[in-house]
Amino acid sequence: ISRKWKVEPTRIDLGEGVVIGEGQFSIMAGPCSIESEKQIELVVQHLVENNVKIMRGGVFKPRSSPYAFRGLGLDGLQMFHRLCRENGIKIITEVMQVSQIKDMVEFVDVFQVGARNSQNFNLLDALGEAQKPVLLKRGISGTLEELLQAAEYIFSNGNEKIILCERGIRSYENAYRNVLDLNAVPVLKAKTHLPVIVDPSHGIGLRDFVEEMSLAAVMAGADGVIYETHQKPEEAFSDGQQTLNFKESERLIKRMLQTYVLR
Ligand code: PEP
Ligand code: MN
Repeated sequence: ISRKWKVEPTRIDLGEGVVIGEGQFSIMAGPCSIESEKQIELVVQHLVENNVKIMRGGVFKPRSSPYAFRGLGLDGLQMFHRLCRENGIKIITEVMQVSQIKDMVEFVDVFQVGARNSQNFNLLDALGEAQKPVLLKRGISGTLEELLQAAEYIFSNGNEKIILCERGIRSYENAYRNVLDLNAVPVLKAKTHLPVIVDPSHGIGLRDFVEEMSLAAVMAGADGVIYETHQKPEEAFSDGQQTLNFKESERLIKRMLQTYVLR
C-alpha cells in the first residue's frame, strides 16, 4: 500500500457514481447504532435532502460494558439495506468477527473494522478475501505503522479497496474522549496511495466541537469525513454525547463543502 509501489491514488468505486478517494470529498454520516426502522427512515431522508450518498450505522456494536446496547444484528442490517437501496444510499457498517462476513456481505457496501479490531489479524485476512471495500480504523493506541501494517493484511490477501480512518488516539488528556491526531492525515497521505478519512465524532467525543475538527480535517487533506448524526441525539442508544442533530449536521455538510473548495 506504499506510495513507493504505486504513486497514483487509489479510488474506490461503490457504484452509481459514488467514488471514494483523491479528487473528491466523501461525506459519510449516520447514527452510531441502527435502532429502528423509523430512525433509519429519518436519517435516510436527512441524507437525501443534503445529497449525502453514504450512511454509517452499526448493527454489531463493540461496547465497553456487556450490559450496554449491542446492536440489532443481521435483522437490523437487512432493514438498513432495504431502506438505503430504495433511496440510492450506500451502507457502511462494522463487522466484528470473521463468522459474520458471509451473512453480511450481500447487504454491505463498505465493511468497517473498528478501532478495537484494528489488529484482529484473522478478521483482516478474511476481509482481504471478501472483495468488498473496507474502512479500517486506527487502533485505540495504534501507531501509524501499525495501521499501515494492518492494511497490508487486507491488501496482501487480494483486496485493494481499503480506506484508512483516523478516529483519535488515547492519551493522558481527559478533557475529551480521544485526541484526534490530524498529523496522521498528511503523513499517511504521503506514505500510502489509499484514501484517508477522519472520524471527528469519536476523535473528540463532544458534539459542540465536531464541526471545528471536521473543518480542520478538510484542510489537513482528508479524502472524507465520517460522523454521527441522529434525529434526537439525546435519546440515541449509543454515543449521543458526540452525535449531531440534523440541523447541526446540515450546517456541517455545507461548511465542509465550502471549506473543501478553498483547499
Ligand atoms: C463507531 O464507529 O461507532 C465505533 C465504535 O468506532 P471506533 O471503532 O472508532 O470506536
Ligand atoms: Mn459510535
